[in-house]
Amino acid sequence: MAGTAGRRGLKDAVLVGGGHAHVIVLRRFIEKPCPGLRLTLVSDEVEAPYSGMLPGLVAGHYAFDEAHIHLRPLAARAGARFVEARVDGLDLDAGQVRLRGRAPIAFDLLSINVGSTPGMDGVPGAREHALPVKPVPAFLARWERLLERAAGSRSPLRLLVVGGGAGGVELALSAQYALERRAGADPDLRLVTGGDAILPGHGAGARRILGRILGERGVRVETGRRVVAVEPGLARCGDGGTIPFDALFWVTGASAPAWLRRTGLALDAKGFIRVDWTLRSISDARVFAAGDVASVEGEPRPKSGVFAVRQGPLLADNLRRAARGRDLRRKVPQRRFLNLIGTGDEGAIASYAGLAVEGSWVWRLKRWIDRRFVRRFNASR
Ligand SMILES: Cc1cc2nc3c(=O)[nH]c(=O)nc-3n(C[C@H](O)[C@H](O)[C@H](O)COP(=O)(O)OP(=O)(O)OC[C@H]3O[C@@H](n4cnc5c(N)ncnc54)[C@H](O)[C@@H]3O)c2cc1C
Repeated sequence: MAGTAGRRGLKDAVLVGGGHAHVIVLRRFIEKPCPGLRLTLVSDEVEAPYSGMLPGLVAGHYAFDEAHIHLRPLAARAGARFVEARVDGLDLDAGQVRLRGRAPIAFDLLSINVGSTPGMDGVPGAREHALPVKPVPAFLARWERLLERAAGSRSPLRLLVVGGGAGGVELALSAQYALERRAGADPDLRLVTGGDAILPGHGAGARRILGRILGERGVRVETGRRVVAVEPGLARCGDGGTIPFDALFWVTGASAPAWLRRTGLALDAKGFIRVDWTLRSISDARVFAAGDVASVEGEPRPKSGVFAVRQGPLLADNLRRAARGRDLRRKVPQRRFLNLIGTGDEGAIASYAGLAVEGSWVWRLKRWIDRRFVRRFNASR
């Protein structure tokens, strides 16, 4: 089935993935519909987790509903068709999105916002014995089982977190809080990173405060130590040492979806979609990408939900313009932005341009911002 362009003047825009940019696109189309453009959202998750609230969900500070965007009603309000399916390829010649176990969908315009997953390739045993933080639904299901197991156990639960970025640190502190307060357990936490320091890409202030907090809470932090193989209950490190664990959270740097490599789209060295400042693929004018999966030419940015959110309005605008054959809008991604990182115990730090402050008021600000963000999408269910 070919796209509908040329027939009835109706164009099919297919949004792949319910990521942060796409929920903003849907919202924009609720506020201002685009006659002549038929939207379809394809997502393997019906409830999209909001990344900023994931550690708070793990800590038990949020209920599931508060931290998830309900995609089906959101799509319905935007006049978009919702297809619950996993995309596993594209046929660019035929203008089709391939779905696992279902018939393909034709597109005239395509937008990809499928995020990333922690990179496990090249680490034998990691897929089998470690628990990656994404996909989030699988992680949360296993986390709840782990909490139950810890609650019924007499010996301390040894939790190893691999990855020293903001996500790894926040998750370690949140998991420790929940294990102690929700499960009444006595966890033994260890955080290992191959990098020279925790929080690469963040300022010295944030590193100092979070390093101190990890120390005060008894989380053992080992930098410059790379896990190279995982066996049941045992992580093997590049220095020849081993670390025993009861549970291993894998929160390393972002890796791109493997199926993109077979699409023929231009990708960067890590396999992310190369887009220009309009968020359009540099190799196919019908294709757009945003969020973690996109790599903006000449302006690479850390993989962070903040950028996905910021790209949403530009993406919505340019999909509308592309549908009407108008020139696209260009925007250089912002360089500096405010980072709010939770410390697990209803505290947080704010870091900006190398400076950082901490306190419960920062957590209250973060909670207010995050709750407000999610409520905007779930408001009229
Ligand atoms: C523990 C942790 C904490 C974090 N905290 C923060 C934070 O506080 N602030 C921040 O800015 N960033 C944070 N991040 C980073 C953040 O998670 C990502 O940068 C962000 O989620 C990327 O958003 P996205 O829109 O690109 O994709 P995502 O939010 O990952 O959404 C992608 C969606 O696409 C769907 N999808 C994926 N593949 C397919 C497919 N093949 N077919 C159909 N659907 C598909 C997924 O199910 C998902 O719903 C954190 C990360 C972690 C691991």
